[in-house]
Amino acid sequence: MTDQHNEHHPSEHFETLAIHAGQPADAGTGAVVTPIYQVSTYKQDGVGGLRGGYEYSRSANPTRSALERNLAALEGGRRGLAFASGLAAEDCLLRTLLVPGDHVVIPNDAYGGTFRLFARVLERWGVTWTVADTSDPGSVRDAVQPRTKAIWVETPSNPLLAISDITALAEVAQQAGAKLVVDNTFASPYLQQPLALGADVVVHSTTKYMGGHSDVIGGALVAADTAFGEELAYHQNAMGAVAGPFDAWLVSRGIKTLAVRMDRHCANAERIAAMLVAHPKVAEVYYPGLPEHAGHELAAKQMKAFGGMVSFRVKGGEDAALAVCDRARLFTLGESLGGVESLIEHPSRMTHASAAGSPLEVPADLVRLSVGIEAVDDLLTDLREALA
Ligand SMILES: *Cc1c(COP(=O)(O)O)cnc(C)c1O
Repeated sequence: MTDQHNEHHPSEHFETLAIHAGQPADAGTGAVVTPIYQVSTYKQDGVGGLRGGYEYSRSANPTRSALERNLAALEGGRRGLAFASGLAAEDCLLRTLLVPGDHVVIPNDAYGGTFRLFARVLERWGVTWTVADTSDPGSVRDAVQPRTKAIWVETPSNPLLAISDITALAEVAQQAGAKLVVDNTFASPYLQQPLALGADVVVHSTTKYMGGHSDVIGGALVAADTAFGEELAYHQNAMGAVAGPFDAWLVSRGIKTLAVRMDRHCANAERIAAMLVAHPKVAEVYYPGLPEHAGHELAAKQMKAFGGMVSFRVKGGEDAALAVCDRARLFTLGESLGGVESLIEHPSRMTHASAAGSPLEVPADLVRLSVGIEAVDDLLTDLREALA
C-alpha cells in the first residue's frame, strides 16, 4: 500500500483509470464496486496478525484506501490521501511541512478559506506568509525568503480564473528549496496534472468536481514522492481528519463519471462565456478559454480544456451584481462549485467574505458561475433574463 502508483493497470487512459484504478472487484464478495466498509476495527489473528493489513479505520479503511489509490493514479502521484474536507487536507499538509518560523508564499487570488487558514490560524503558530501574484513567476521569486518552505498556487484561481505557469513555478520552488503545492480543485486531474509539470503535491477539495453532485464534503492530497507521501500519511493518522467510509465511497462514485461531466462543464462554460462577452450589461468576463484572457495561451498548454467556472463583472456596481444573483432561477444562488447543477454567487459577500480588507479582496461587482451540465440553451436563457 506504500507505493500506490506502482500497481498494475490495464490502461493509462484517464477515463479507464477513473473507473478502475485502485478499485478491483471486492475480494470477499466479487462486488464490482468497492463496498462501504462501515467499520471501525478489524479482527486480528493473534496479536498483531492483521488479515488484510487493516487494524483501525482512522489509520486505514478499505473504502478509503480504494479512493486513495484511485486519486494517486489519476494525479500520477505516489501516494493519495483522503480527508474529511479540503481544508482538513490543507491543514494536514501545512502542519506536516511547517514549523514555527517557516514562511509560505501564497497567491493573491485564492479560495477564501485557504487564506483564512494562513491568516487566522497558522499565523498564531508562528508561520509567516507573503502574498504574490503567482501568474508572474518573477513576483513569486521576489517573495521567497530564507525560510520559505512552500509555494502555494491555485490555477485556475478562485474567483478570477488567473492562470499560473506550473512548470516555471516548480523551478522557482526548487531553487528556493521549497515545495510547490498546487490546489487543483478548479481543473480536476482530468484537465490538468500538476505533478507531471513539476509540482510536489496536489491539493483537492473533492467536495467540488471530484464528488461532482453537491452531496459530500471531502479533501485530498496526492504526493509526487513516496517519502513525502509517507510523512503525510503519518500525519493524516496522527491528526485524524480522515474521510469516513460513506464519504469516501461517494467521492469514488463521483470520480467514475468525472471525464464525461468535465467535457460538458467545459462545453457549456465556453458557450456562456461567449454570450457574456457580447452582453451590453457585462463589463468584463474572466474565463481562460477566451482568446483575450491573459492566461489563455498558458492554459491551452497546461490544461486539456478550460474548465466550468466563469466569473464576470456587471455594469452598475455591487447592486447590479447582487440583482443578477437574485434574479437567476436555474442558476441556484449558493456557495460551492463543481456539481452537476449550475450555481451563481457573489464572491465578495459569500465565498470570499473572509478576504475582505486583505490583498485577496475581490471586486464587489463580481459574479461567479459554476456552470453545470444542464442543457446549455436553458442556462443561456436564465442568464439573459437575470441580466435584463
Ligand atoms: C472549496 C475549496 C477548498 C476547501 O475545500 P472544503 O472541501 O470546502 O474544505 C479549497 N480550495 C478550493 C479551490 C476550493 O474551491
